[in-house]
Amino acid sequence: MSADKYTSETVTWVKTWVPGKLFSFRTTRDQGFRFVPGQFARLGVAKPDPLAADGSGARIVWRAYSIVSAPYDEHLEFFSIVVDGGEFTSELEKLGEGDTIYVDKTAFGFLTTAAFPTGKDLWMLSSGTGLAPFLSVLMDLQVWDDYEHLILVHSVRTAEELAYRDTIEGLAAHPYFGEIVAANPGKLIYLPSITREIVPGALNGRITALIETGELESRAGVRLDPERGRVMLCGNPDMVSDLRHLLASRGFAASRRGKPGNLAVENYW
Ligand code: FAD
Repeated sequence: MSADKYTSETVTWVKTWVPGKLFSFRTTRDQGFRFVPGQFARLGVAKPDPLAADGSGARIVWRAYSIVSAPYDEHLEFFSIVVDGGEFTSELEKLGEGDTIYVDKTAFGFLTTAAFPTGKDLWMLSSGTGLAPFLSVLMDLQVWDDYEHLILVHSVRTAEELAYRDTIEGLAAHPYFGEIVAANPGKLIYLPSITREIVPGALNGRITALIETGELESRAGVRLDPERGRVMLCGNPDMVSDLRHLLASRGFAASRRGKPGNLAVENYW
């Protein structure tokens, strides 16, 4: 990518959720960088490469990353997996405060509420780091106005992977959102689901199974109704594909050629 297409930013904060597996980080943000909640940035890290064509001894490796932070935040925040031997994340996990990361000047993606006409219930179904874009969507004041219910499902294998649980459950104490959360009791329905452990207060099982048995709807207290529901899916491609098929049988489809839909999806690999 040519140098005029990206900016150099500085890592300002790193938080480890699960050592060697899951972490979040913030970077400075170029004033010109614009995005819509749900979109992703392209991030670059320098990787040592003695054969680099420009003789610098390094090359930049790029990957897509959903933006966790809100469009009005001064920083950018991201939530990352560490892939064993992963080309990008093995470098990314070494970064600390003060280190440089590159950010493509353009944000991308269609996993936004603009993907469909406004409905009554916004279902955000995620696995693992697929939670990331929904944190930004949740920080969008417009969705709090537009929807009667905001249902956020985060499916993980073990309880320690429930990153951001405190942030989501503590939204009532948030400096901007506290008031809106208090004014809309019951609007935000956060449903963590753990597949490999039984944990009190969390659902147990894959999202597909929880929909098939009706447990997800009963715990949400909301029917998964294609007339009023709008569904966003993000994360593991197997989960996205299974859910997409299941939801198709329940009347959910992505917008297509001018025909408005009620489903938006994003695969991470
Ligand atoms: P890669 O060579 O890219 O991947 C190796 C393997 O690791 C993949 O085949 C897959 O099996 C597994 N893998 C990759 N990403 C993940 C993941 N997120 N969770 C579990 N297993 C994974 N990743 C994030 O961590 N956070 C994000 O917010 C995020 N947003 C994305 C948005 C989009 C639109 C896309 C397409 C991908 C996103 N990813 C995200 C994935 C990310 O781009 C990289 O794949 C990831 O950083 C791993 O890079 P790598 O070079 O280390 O491994």
